[in-house]
Amino acid sequence: MRGQCACFFRISTQDHPSLADRKQVLSPHYPYFGATSAPRALTFPVRPAPRGLPPTKDKATAVNQTLPPPAPPHIAVIGAGLSGLATAWYLQTSGYAVTVFEAHSHVGGVLSSVQAGAYLLEQGVDAMQVDARTAALLDALDLEAVCQTVPLPRRKCDILKDGRYQTLPTGPLSTAFGGFFSRQAKWRIASEPLRRHSPFRTPVEAPDTVGAFFRHRLGKEITDYAIAPLLAMYLAADPDTLLMPLTLPELVATDAAQHAIVPQLMPPLDALSSLNGGMAMLPEALAGQLKVRTHAAVNALIRRPEGRWCVVAGQWVQAVDAVVLALPAPAAAALLQPHWAHAAEAIGAIHYAPLALIHRAYKRQDIGHALNSMGGFNPPVEHAFALGTVFASSMFTGRAPHDEVLLTTRVGGMLAPQRAHLADAVLTRFLDAELHTHLGIQAAPVFERITRHPAAMPQGDAQMLLAASWLPTLANDRLFVAGNWVGGTSVSACLARGQTLTETIHAALSAFKV
Ligand SMILES: Cc1cc2nc3c(=O)[nH]c(=O)nc-3n(C[C@H](O)[C@H](O)[C@H](O)COP(=O)(O)OP(=O)(O)OC[C@H]3O[C@@H](n4cnc5c(N)ncnc54)[C@H](O)[C@@H]3O)c2cc1C
Repeated sequence: MRGQCACFFRISTQDHPSLADRKQVLSPHYPYFGATSAPRALTFPVRPAPRGLPPTKDKATAVNQTLPPPAPPHIAVIGAGLSGLATAWYLQTSGYAVTVFEAHSHVGGVLSSVQAGAYLLEQGVDAMQVDARTAALLDALDLEAVCQTVPLPRRKCDILKDGRYQTLPTGPLSTAFGGFFSRQAKWRIASEPLRRHSPFRTPVEAPDTVGAFFRHRLGKEITDYAIAPLLAMYLAADPDTLLMPLTLPELVATDAAQHAIVPQLMPPLDALSSLNGGMAMLPEALAGQLKVRTHAAVNALIRRPEGRWCVVAGQWVQAVDAVVLALPAPAAAALLQPHWAHAAEAIGAIHYAPLALIHRAYKRQDIGHALNSMGGFNPPVEHAFALGTVFASSMFTGRAPHDEVLLTTRVGGMLAPQRAHLADAVLTRFLDAELHTHLGIQAAPVFERITRHPAAMPQGDAQMLLAASWLPTLANDRLFVAGNWVGGTSVSACLARGQTLTETIHAALSAFKV
């Protein structure tokens, strides 16, 4: 993808000196529409010449008079988490004037990395999946050189089964010949295509929850030990409330096209990566190319004539042509409330799972486990205290001194939310016992820090579906939504949403003749 595309902008930098300053952003290295699709031209809607220009002396002067180029539409992006910054970056790359408003002193939102002495702690994202879009963005931001990928032998996870960690098979051969699944489960996998159009055996279950879908297709054992622990760890979720179309839309499409779903469940070939200085380098690099106002909590949106908006952030008042809300759902609801009370009610009621992260370092010799995977994941049916533990220093270098290991344990989620709020001393006592049993840890940690996210992960359940039904109404009023409660929570999903939303905004503003 990189380096093979031409720049698809019709506006030349000669006509628009301000765009020349953004040469880095508009570099032909970075195609707006991606290399996989046919080149498409993105042009600004040409504004009509402003009325009431001073009368010209004669016809020739009028013809020769050069009008200043039309200013590009100005868009406010509220929230400088990954969703807001990615959307702002794609908008700016497409030629829009963008201002980002961020309540805090720093960018990145829940995605933050902290250097605590010799330890590099990820307080949000542990790793990102690098698809073609993400790779292109890392390239455009000059982050490729600092990107490191989980070594192939470690790109697997251990699942707690029958009280001990066992490696989840990652391919057809290890599934068929390994001992992780029972013979019945292997038969369920092999015969899955035959059940595709048989009716649900448990009609009381909602057919489109993730749990019900997989129990029907692949049986209870596979749902309990291969699906539920991954959803608990990555989305802090309960599979019996998550909806298939919001959680695994690609799988829904595969299923609708009547293809076998199991190959889709095998780990993606995309690299799982992080950045040498921590994942926070990504939002910081994005912000470095954007106009971001920090310490600017937006407290009101004021409707202006002709569909425009005024964004009010303390003493800042900015008139803009459109607004992108890249906020957690409750914060978005607060801004929407005066204008769309019903939409605000639906969006404000989106469910969030809380998480506590316990970062611990141990001397390598004190661990009775090889830690040669990405982590140990605990299926809810095993009734462990934690959701699982990421083996941070096994995935990436530079996380801890060479004779130590860094582990990050996740506690809480939708199935045990109260555990995320336990006092530090209680959390660590439970954790001591669990790590001793499952990882053979004999000694006390040499380092410990606890990070809490009271509202970590928005849940793709029926409430989110209801909230999402309001988005077209908001878009009609030039209000667009980019937060991670629309389109998925992963890094790659936030970037994808930023790019597709840019296309949506462009089409909408063209229709509005902005
Ligand atoms: C603990 C944890 C672990 C995760 N691990 C992974 C992982 O390993 N891999 C992965 O791909 N994804 C992971 N994710 C998901 C991913 O990190 C998030 O989905 C993503 O970073 C969310 O970005 P966002 O911009 O949508 O929201 P946020 O990060 O919440 O950003 C919202 C921003 O809006 C700002 N704001 C709020 N109110 C206002 C206001 N009134 N005015 C102005 N600004 C305001 C906030 O300060 C914040 O900066 C993880 C998430 C969490 C919480």
